[in-house]
Amino acid sequence: MELIEDKNWRGKGPESDAIPSKGKSGLHTLTELILTKEGDRLLEIGGGEYHRDMPVPVGGTAIGQHKYCGGLVRMYQTSQDWHTIHCQRCSLRVQVPVSQNTYGLVQGWLEAWMWAESVKVKWGQA
Ligand SMILES: [Zn+2]
Repeated sequence: MELIEDKNWRGKGPESDAIPSKGKSGLHTLTELILTKEGDRLLEIGGGEYHRDMPVPVGGTAIGQHKYCGGLVRMYQTSQDWHTIHCQRCSLRVQVPVSQNTYGLVQGWLEAWMWAESVKVKWGQA
């Protein structure tokens, strides 16, 4: 997935009026992250949107709420190269490379991984 750079937008903070409003599923925002091919979704706490180039907090800070389940979700570093996204309520566990450190990069990587998994299933290699 390609992130779109907008120099006028970057660094002005979420409260700035200068941010172009793209509405739901806009250019710079995600209404939710799709975590698994089964459709597990991560919602912003408070019902807002994720900015694609915002870093995903690692450690104690909840990064969102698991849709339907309602559990708070956090991301931890669990090996040298991998972060684990974990739901405290249902123990959903999704791993993402440490290098994928913004919401946009995490979603892009997960989409590529899910696509690769779907190809394996389709061709009987799973
Ligand atoms: Zn959950």
